[in-house]
Amino acid sequence: MKTNKDIITVTSPLLPDLDEFNEMLRKIWDNKWITNNGEFHQRFEAALCEYLKVPYISVFTNGTLPLITALQALNISGEVITTPYSFVATTHSLWWNGIKPVFVDIDPATGGIDPERIEAAITPRTTAIMPVHVYGKPCRTREIQDIADKYGLRVIYDAAHAFGIEVDGKSILTEGDMSTLSFHATKVFNTVEGGALVVHDAKTKQRIDYLKNFGFAGETEVVAPGINGKMDELRAAYGLLNLRQVDACIEARRQVAIRYREALRPVNGINFWDDMPGVRHNYSYFPIFVDSEEYGMTRDELFMKLRENGILARRYFYPLISDFSTYRGLPSATRENLPNATRMADTVLCLPIHHLLAEADLARIINLIVK
Ligand SMILES: *Cc1c(COP(=O)(O)O)cnc(C)c1O
Repeated sequence: MKTNKDIITVTSPLLPDLDEFNEMLRKIWDNKWITNNGEFHQRFEAALCEYLKVPYISVFTNGTLPLITALQALNISGEVITTPYSFVATTHSLWWNGIKPVFVDIDPATGGIDPERIEAAITPRTTAIMPVHVYGKPCRTREIQDIADKYGLRVIYDAAHAFGIEVDGKSILTEGDMSTLSFHATKVFNTVEGGALVVHDAKTKQRIDYLKNFGFAGETEVVAPGINGKMDELRAAYGLLNLRQVDACIEARRQVAIRYREALRPVNGINFWDDMPGVRHNYSYFPIFVDSEEYGMTRDELFMKLRENGILARRYFYPLISDFSTYRGLPSATRENLPNATRMADTVLCLPIHHLLAEADLARIINLIVK
């Protein structure tokens, strides 16, 4: 039997130093203020704004509630154009707002929604576009915004993978009307569970802060049917500590990506992306795409081979969201409408990448893929 030590997982959570976290906890215990916009919550939001180079941020208890709240805050209804190639929460957030998702195929060069296919999916009921910077690769934001402006649509980016992503020194999180983040344990930056909503102005931030606190604008005033999305003090403190070491974590991941690229470039049928010029990446995932004819093995065969050897690569994102039973019946959910997304979902495999991956682990993974 394999012991836990032999298993290589796709990621490993960035954990704060336990002694430092204990010191933070002692302060929280002294304050006796454990949630509801406390000292650490405020400090965490300020530190995130600075690190991410964004003007306003509101932190949440997970990465799904900011999606749901953004749609509420912008009064989005009717139909929203989105991508099937994502984690299922993207589309679920529409469903929870009574909005009909309309799937548009992806651009195989980025994995993000293909701007050239958006216009054909617009109907009189369309109110917004919800793209995803999948794997942290920037969407074609300028083209998406041009279409949105032309038709008067809102743009909400699911930027769950895009922590710290910059294009020419500018944060990707300032694109569109709003962007959401996830700080789930599996993400490059985590607060165990957590998330955030990035907005452009103080007034919107105020509204989001009301909405994530039941709509309370004062002790006795409720201004909207809000929800409870607040982050507590413990996780805000944890986030503050992780923020100090996230750059080192991203650098360690970059080294892993460099190693994979060197080793896998000569392998026929194993395709992957290089860094994009002008982009600061976060190396949150290392997706490879298996061309079974050239490689001589299907993606699923390679997935199983790795698994049998204790390497838990993941098929992110397979199946497509549009293939789940909840969404399969939608007119836009057909494979004919989504050829690029279908191909990507059928060939992708995300290899282990994290800050603790040792050279011996990497060599083990690479040897199995190179054969
Ligand atoms: C992780 C993730 C979410 C949801 O975040 P949670 O913090 O797990 O609620 C949403 N969208 C995408 C693309 C994700 O990867």
